[in-house]
Amino acid sequence: MTHFSFAQVVRGALTGQKNWTAQWPEREPKAAYDVVIVGAGGHGLGAAYYLAKEHGLTNVAVIDKGWLGGGNTGRNTTIIRSNYLYDESARLYDHALDLWENLSQDLNYNVMFSKRGVLMLAHNVHDVQSFQRHVHSNRLNGVDNQWLSAAEAKAFCPPLDLNPKARYPVLGAALQRRAGTARH
Ligand SMILES: Cc1cc2nc3c(=O)[nH]c(=O)nc-3n(C[C@H](O)[C@H](O)[C@H](O)COP(=O)(O)OP(=O)(O)OC[C@H]3O[C@@H](n4cnc5c(N)ncnc54)[C@H](O)[C@@H]3O)c2cc1C
Repeated sequence: MTHFSFAQVVRGALTGQKNWTAQWPEREPKAAYDVVIVGAGGHGLGAAYYLAKEHGLTNVAVIDKGWLGGGNTGRNTTIIRSNYLYDESARLYDHALDLWENLSQDLNYNVMFSKRGVLMLAHNVHDVQSFQRHVHSNRLNGVDNQWLSAAEAKAFCPPLDLNPKARYPVLGAALQRRAGTARH
């Protein structure tokens, strides 16, 4: 893969973005591999990457019936967060969120992780109860998540319409500040 640098990006801008080389060349499959991973989604590619990085296993094939990242990984909402519910998975999600922080530097590829916070709006009493349950559960596990009143949510996100007659009125919100979005 091309090693990206500031100078290269400037050069690309000055030459009409015409001189970039393909990032993933075609490869003929080898006769054998130490590991074959079926499915080049986030999980398959992540497994291959960490096998190489953490375990020195580089004779790895990732095969896919379509294109790289073309499954759910390529059509999701791109929210990167760790404020899920259950105790058993709390550390896993939080560790994954930590990994996102340096992924662009690690891969030398801009994954566009933007830690802008994720605000989940509660529109009815069920939402309020459910999100507050998440907030309490997360905080007991050391995962950042906080409950905001409607006014506090608007202070965080000024375009919010707090009109109580809105089709989906805002009764409050759960905010994870460490969360954000990334590119597909
Ligand atoms: C609409 C939507 C929104 C979502 N929003 C979010 C979100 O905001 N944040 C979040 O964290 N998660 C979100 N998710 C969940 C997240 O996208 C998935 O958990 C994640 O993409 C799963 O990754 P994966 O690698 O397991 O599967 P996939 O990305 O689906 O990859 C599986 C790959 O396997 C290939 N494959 C399947 N069968 C075969 C076969 N027999 N032979 C060869 N290749 C095969 C497929 O072509 C595909 O490329 C969302 C999911 C959806 C559908």
